[in-house]
Amino acid sequence: MADCLFCKIIAGKIPCKKVHESENFISFHDIQPQANVHVLVIPKKHYEHLLDASKGMEVNILGQYLQEIAKVAEILGLTKSGFRTVFNTNDHGCQTVYHVHAHVIGGEQLMGNMG
Ligand code: AMP
Ligand code: ZN
Repeated sequence: MADCLFCKIIAGKIPCKKVHESENFISFHDIQPQANVHVLVIPKKHYEHLLDASKGMEVNILGQYLQEIAKVAEILGLTKSGFRTVFNTNDHGCQTVYHVHAHVIGGEQLMGNMG
């Protein structure tokens, strides 16, 4: 999508601090980290948000997405200590970039509530 920030990152038009790339996903450090580790995992194909999961997002991609998040958590060394995975959706979810992304947050003890 031409005017999508994350599509521009995927296309290499905007730089990112890449963590991992696979056939269908790319993961990079959030520019405004909310914790010691804060990485975004995004599909290379443009979907607006998690609601696309029930509107034609391929079941294959959905399964691969969870596998990719687990892989990235391993790469980041978060598996033993733990981490949080968040999908913000639309206004009340405070979504600001409308290309679906999983926040992977950890590297320190997080608060028990969802903030
Ligand atoms: P959300 O509020 O869930 O839509 O999250 C969007 C996230 O993208 C925020 O945490 C931003 O800090 C992050 N972000 C915005 N621009 C960039 C960028 N150029 N590189 C990396 N992360 C970004
Ligand atoms: Zn996009």
